[in-house]
Amino acid sequence: MKFKYDPEKCDLPFDVNENRPTKCLKCLEVCPNSLLMFIPMKDKREDGAPERYKISMIFKAYGKKYCPDCLKCVDICPSQAIKIKI
Ligand code: SF4
Ligand code: SF4
Repeated sequence: MKFKYDPEKCDLPFDVNENRPTKCLKCLEVCPNSLLMFIPMKDKREDGAPERYKISMIFKAYGKKYCPDCLKCVDICPSQAIKIKI
């Protein structure tokens, strides 16, 4: 199984106060084993919010071990930003 994420497609407004995207993160919410995480990138905007972020699988080897390939994250993503190659 290979987890692939396209940050170009997952382009959501950033909430400075919450330090997370304003909307979505549905992939994180739907994962039954909480294997996905949101990672702010180092580059910052003028207001201090991260310029970009990415969705990643927690500790890849661990994630792969416990991901049953349910594809819930793929199915719920409104932007087709996640692909799982089985
Ligand atoms: S569900 Fe898709 S668009 Fe929403 S945060 Fe996850 S990867 Fe991004
Ligand atoms: S396929 Fe299922 S278990 Fe695996 S990362 Fe996506 S939602 Fe989580």
